[in-house]
Amino acid sequence: MLTKFFEVHDDRFEKLALPSVHVETLFSDGRWLEGPVYVPAGRYLLFSDIPNDRVLRWDETDGSVSTFLAPSRNANGHTLDREGRVVACEHFSRSVTRTEHDGSLTVIADRFQGKRLNSPNDVVVAADGAVWFTDPTYGIATDYEGERAESEIDSRNVYRVAPSGDMRAVLTDFVQPNGLAFSTDGAVLYVVDSGSKPGRIVAFDVVDGADLARPRLVAECPCGVYDGLRIDRQGNLWAAAGDGVHCLAPDGRLLGKILLPEVAANVCFGGSRRNRLFICATRSLHAVYLNTTGA
Ligand code: MG
Repeated sequence: MLTKFFEVHDDRFEKLALPSVHVETLFSDGRWLEGPVYVPAGRYLLFSDIPNDRVLRWDETDGSVSTFLAPSRNANGHTLDREGRVVACEHFSRSVTRTEHDGSLTVIADRFQGKRLNSPNDVVVAADGAVWFTDPTYGIATDYEGERAESEIDSRNVYRVAPSGDMRAVLTDFVQPNGLAFSTDGAVLYVVDSGSKPGRIVAFDVVDGADLARPRLVAECPCGVYDGLRIDRQGNLWAAAGDGVHCLAPDGRLLGKILLPEVAANVCFGGSRRNRLFICATRSLHAVYLNTTGA
């Protein structure tokens, strides 16, 4: 039972997380929940239960949770592309895939320069349709969240796949690139390194839609590591961390926390007004209405 939900570090947070609002627990029977994506047309949320090799669906119309996909090839991060198609990172198949409107599966990426990817973790689609994803080794480190294997690439990169299919490594010097998100105007890409000590968020300028420049440290994680993150319409970052979700101003200042009893892995905005934050936290899926909306 959650009793105290918010920890205020800056007055601005009181306008984002209203004191009368509470955190609801929607589901609590997972092993390691990740990769939430809200599908507006269907009024449901998809989220991954990676060790259980399944993608679950929380139905907004009746609150039920059912199996959407099993086996899920140990799917992790999800997003929607510009056409509303679900894009998934898959540990077991070591690929990024897209489910077409007719239900068929398209592989967006599974190799780089002829070598298999490690285990794609999280993904975003840019305004130009390019798919950006991170490729740490968590899904090949053990048999728990994928299939244990050696890295063929021997590097943990961030990739950009252009609409043409052309694929490039745009970031090659992170220990374990993890969550990623664009700023509201698409000019900045935030990337989490959950393998650095401490874990951190780094911002990059996006140059010509295809390159990253001018890296600067946004924040170091004071509790556990950052994992997935999303941006609200004011440009604030909502990042999963060891003690819940941290809300950071664009300059990295900690505004406040949504406190949770388990480690948080990822978040996404959803609901018809996009003002509800869904949180995957270890075994549980939580949701909280915020006084802001997803970017
Ligand atoms: Mg992740």
